[in-house]
Amino acid sequence: EDPVVHIEQLSADALSSELKSLEAQYADLAQRKLALDLTRGKPGTEQVSLSDALDGILDRHYLAENGTDVRNYGGLDGLPEAKRLFAPVLGVPEAELIIGGNSSLTLMYTVIDFALSVGLRGPESAWGNDDTVKILCPVPGYDRHFALCEHLGIEMVPVPMLDTGPDMNAVEKLVKEDSSIRGIWCVPRFSNPTGCVYSDETVARLAALGKLASECFLVMYDNAYAVHALHENAPALANIREYCEREGTLDNVFQFGSTSKITFAGAGVAFASSSEANLKAFKQHLGFQSIGPDKVNQLRHVKLLRDAEGLQAHMQQHAALLRPRFKAVLETLEAQLTGTGMGDWLTPEGGYFISFTTRPGLAKEVVRLASGIGVALTPAGATYPYGEDPEDSNIRLAPSYPSLEDVKATAEAFVVCVKLASLRQLKG
Ligand code: PLP
Repeated sequence: EDPVVHIEQLSADALSSELKSLEAQYADLAQRKLALDLTRGKPGTEQVSLSDALDGILDRHYLAENGTDVRNYGGLDGLPEAKRLFAPVLGVPEAELIIGGNSSLTLMYTVIDFALSVGLRGPESAWGNDDTVKILCPVPGYDRHFALCEHLGIEMVPVPMLDTGPDMNAVEKLVKEDSSIRGIWCVPRFSNPTGCVYSDETVARLAALGKLASECFLVMYDNAYAVHALHENAPALANIREYCEREGTLDNVFQFGSTSKITFAGAGVAFASSSEANLKAFKQHLGFQSIGPDKVNQLRHVKLLRDAEGLQAHMQQHAALLRPRFKAVLETLEAQLTGTGMGDWLTPEGGYFISFTTRPGLAKEVVRLASGIGVALTPAGATYPYGEDPEDSNIRLAPSYPSLEDVKATAEAFVVCVKLASLRQLKG
């Protein structure tokens, strides 16, 4: 085994010969007509199959425990047994939860649209009464949060993401100084894409933001990966609601979750939580969109997952399928890039992503090189508002969907592209 040499310590000769070898490896990979894809943060086929029993699980028994016939209209805020199942996922009382349709993103969109154009506390309170509406976006972050803001004409203000969550010094400063800032996006456990879990201090400071901020400020707390740990010792997330209760800021947080990555993506159940006052206003708003959600699906989910223990056992099966895929990528990165100065990454303990940082100015080039040999990566910049990564250095890797064999092949090819781009840049 050759000792690891940092890229900046390579002699000119070593650089040239290393580069030659990489060009050859790259050409060889190009010959192989690969068709690999690490772009999609969606569950693999074996994962969705874990919930196939949803089909027919009701065995034509359509009555909920309170006698509601789930085949018929009504029940805008969801079945009580679904609330009992999902309230613990967000760590909230059942009275502060509503169960929606198939997508938490839809609920987030509706909340933002409601706060913007209708007003959480009546027309006077609508964010849209002001010319400029801004939301803080920890970066790198989830592209669909950013696309939603862009679509609704909300300005995005990037704030750095640390290993402990958003840089709260920056967040608090901005929120105090600029009253046009109306909210912040958060993916608090196994964040998309860095995989970090917000520290207790970060959660406490997020809960207190409502006291520093303008009226009707919202922490959009998208807990999409609340129960999506890769192993049992993964770090827990502090309960934001408990801090909010202490601070008197329950009105300033909306939490979201869904079973998109628990049961069927796109055919699961989504839920949201906030203060009783917020939910009352929000439900009234929802009533203009829908007579009620799909309660048949809610009841099917309760039958399948049953309770907290059932849910946990189900998630352990997901973890067993995901672990080797994450391991394959991480082992390849560690073996090939540790100590070389050609990239950094975090080792996520849950969620769906590995966030890779190239040397500055190389993310687009690595994605381009990968595409040249049949390896599709998420477009560079996708994890930043307006698709603009100022350092051009973040690449999101999503190993859940391809077969383990393909994940391994992709990781190997990815490393070749990273090395090639880095050495070419250094050579100038
Ligand atoms: N939030 C985050 C952070 C996600 O990564 C995703 C999907 O990738 C979603 C929300 C989408 O959730 P849903 O399917 O419930 O709309």
